[in-house]
Amino acid sequence: MAKKKISFPQFGNYCIPFEYLLTNILNVDYIIPPPTTKKTLELGSMHSPDFVCAPFKYQLGGYIEALEAGADVLFQVGGVCRLCYYGELHEQILKDLGYKFEFINFSNINIYNPVDIYNSFKKYNSKLSASNITVTLLICIEMVKMMDEMEIFIRENVGFEIENGSFDKIYNEFLDKIRQVKSKKELKKIYSIYYKKLKDNPVIKPKNPLKVGLIGEYYTVMEPFSNHFMEKELAKKGIVVTRTMNVSNTVFWLGREKELKKKVKGYLKYDIGATGIDTISEAIELAKKKYDGIIHVKSFGCTPEIDAMPVLQNISNDYKIPILYFSFDSQTSETGIQTRLEAFYDMITMRKEKNK
Ligand code: SF4
Repeated sequence: MAKKKISFPQFGNYCIPFEYLLTNILNVDYIIPPPTTKKTLELGSMHSPDFVCAPFKYQLGGYIEALEAGADVLFQVGGVCRLCYYGELHEQILKDLGYKFEFINFSNINIYNPVDIYNSFKKYNSKLSASNITVTLLICIEMVKMMDEMEIFIRENVGFEIENGSFDKIYNEFLDKIRQVKSKKELKKIYSIYYKKLKDNPVIKPKNPLKVGLIGEYYTVMEPFSNHFMEKELAKKGIVVTRTMNVSNTVFWLGREKELKKKVKGYLKYDIGATGIDTISEAIELAKKKYDGIIHVKSFGCTPEIDAMPVLQNISNDYKIPILYFSFDSQTSETGIQTRLEAFYDMITMRKEKNK
């Protein structure tokens, strides 16, 4: 019998660990959907309620592209906000459009409970053993942590590479290699080879370069197309780009809530939902480190990040750090983004000169 073909919409480079996890524990093939493009957003927007946030539309467009590419099983993991309810809606919309598929919705499982994870996957693969799932999950977690660490390094250095595209080339090679690893040991070996390659990649970096931090709603900040490739645009201007909001620092950070509450003391008393508290904490961190500016990105209509904005303004006033706000939806104009980015760049450059 032919293997089933499973897929999950694009989300940064996280399709690699997703592929690893699902193919190893469900005995299925994985379809990597085409990279997110304008077409993905158009497809998603066409069949979405107007008022939903952009991640809903991107995911719906991604599912349609995956189904068109041959997927017959779709996977949903949910999130830390209303994203948890999106799975049911996506499934219904896609079925109403006439697609035939199976929908695995893990929105409601407790990802911090190994028994819950095991039982949920066991439903779809009766031969699944506890040791197989444990080993695979540990490799995937390690993979994500390594990717996040390497991507942080790349963002801070790619603007200064001597050979255009050299960082991307090394990193893509790394991603390709880890797709087939058989053990944590093998993964670690590949990681150390490629991290060294990244560190040895020649750069010309000024002594005191402009430094900008990127924060905001977790889908928008992590999926490059949805933030209009903001990190690349900044790097092209010779800026150190810092973005530590990633899966390792949100989903995998045990005890996150307690620690974050300490970090945001004086600015925020309660958790404001989704990754709003992470946004505030990161802004404080960047301000304390005397970054030249912060860029806050979010999807239009994202309540937790709207709530974060007045607090960000207080941080901006207290630490005298400029913050540029972007809110994206399916109609956002590229020219508008570029113009505002240019003006922000000119302003932080002049400020830096003046403060020398
Ligand atoms: S955090 Fe905001 S934009 Fe992101 S999925 Fe949730 S509500 Fe939508």
